[in-house]
Amino acid sequence: MPVTSLDTRSVHAGREDLRALGVHVPPIDLSSTNPLPDVENGGRAYEVLATGGRPEPGDSLVYQRLWNPTVDRFERAVAVLEETEEAVAYASGMAALTAVLLASVAAGAPHVVAVRPLYGGTDHVLATGLLGTKVTWATPESVASSVRPDTGLVLFETPANPTLDLVDIGAVVTAAGPVPVLVDNTFATPVLQNPARHGATLVLHSATKFMGGHGDAMGGVVAGTAAWARQLRHVRALTGGLLHPRAAYDLHRGLQSLPVRVRAAQEGAQKVAAWLEEHPDVVGVHYPGLADPDGLVGRQMRGPGSILAFSVRGGYAAAASAAAGCRLVTHAVSLGGVDSLIQHPAALTHRSVAADARPHDDLLRLSVGLENPDDLLADLDQALRAR
Ligand SMILES: *Cc1c(COP(=O)(O)O)cnc(C)c1O
Repeated sequence: MPVTSLDTRSVHAGREDLRALGVHVPPIDLSSTNPLPDVENGGRAYEVLATGGRPEPGDSLVYQRLWNPTVDRFERAVAVLEETEEAVAYASGMAALTAVLLASVAAGAPHVVAVRPLYGGTDHVLATGLLGTKVTWATPESVASSVRPDTGLVLFETPANPTLDLVDIGAVVTAAGPVPVLVDNTFATPVLQNPARHGATLVLHSATKFMGGHGDAMGGVVAGTAAWARQLRHVRALTGGLLHPRAAYDLHRGLQSLPVRVRAAQEGAQKVAAWLEEHPDVVGVHYPGLADPDGLVGRQMRGPGSILAFSVRGGYAAAASAAAGCRLVTHAVSLGGVDSLIQHPAALTHRSVAADARPHDDLLRLSVGLENPDDLLADLDQALRAR
């Protein structure tokens, strides 16, 4: 029975065989190694898996760095939700990005065209060239003229961290021509946006954020074509940035409630954003539900999401004091969990970004959780006024 509803897919994807197994939830396979039938067959399976292939039914899985069934379930579910052929999961979002960059470098295409703003860690790894990449910083309009013969990747976020800038995915895909386009879809989640529908080759998530959703599991995942997945598994097998099967279980469980959490948090964020816009101590609010000059909410995104950023009147000192003054909202980096988090990007998540591209130091980023919005408004109000 083909299922097309996102809500139903979120609940059941990666669990298709459970009934036949006679269990209600996925078993967690913790084996670091697996019995080999004989040297000949074991060796063949090793060769397939160590170069990024998939196991045939009945093959030994050989070694956890090469394959893990619990991780595979989570990957299958993400591929279903992102509408891609496959997905490959890692220990964190940064490990996932590392695998993509190493695969591009290995293919002889080390040049990356990247649109800022980006998550600070992504900006930092590209700016340092640590993994052998070279970067050209572009705007969506200058992507086409930035592409060179050795360009292996065009990379951007939409909504972007931390300013919530939106980028027209289809327009950048056209500008990139034959160059693969990677969209970091962490902020939108597959509930609100499917970059592959608009032509993106690769869709990256920090699964640590919305997918896990409870601030207790780290992971990263890249969804894309079967050919890319093979390269990405090859890099994973050789570099070992593995998602632990216990974390894979938690992230897979998180997907079941993802649509409900994302929509409920979004409802709260819309109220918080509208209220902040009227607040005397706030000079500007960045939220796709308030300003969307290119009309991308509705056309590309199914809603504005639950992350926003705002500028505090009084600059750095006022913003720093407001972040530290929150009581119900936790002053902490990260986002996308059931509880609201606030942080100062210029001082924390985007500290390593070059000064001319760093977010303004009056800016705070707020991830709205599932609390009653009125309680959040009361807390933000006391934090903004108590300085
Ligand atoms: C947090 C984040 C990352 C990095 O993910 P980790 O799981 O922390 O390694 C990448 N992109 C975006 C947009 C993020 O918010």
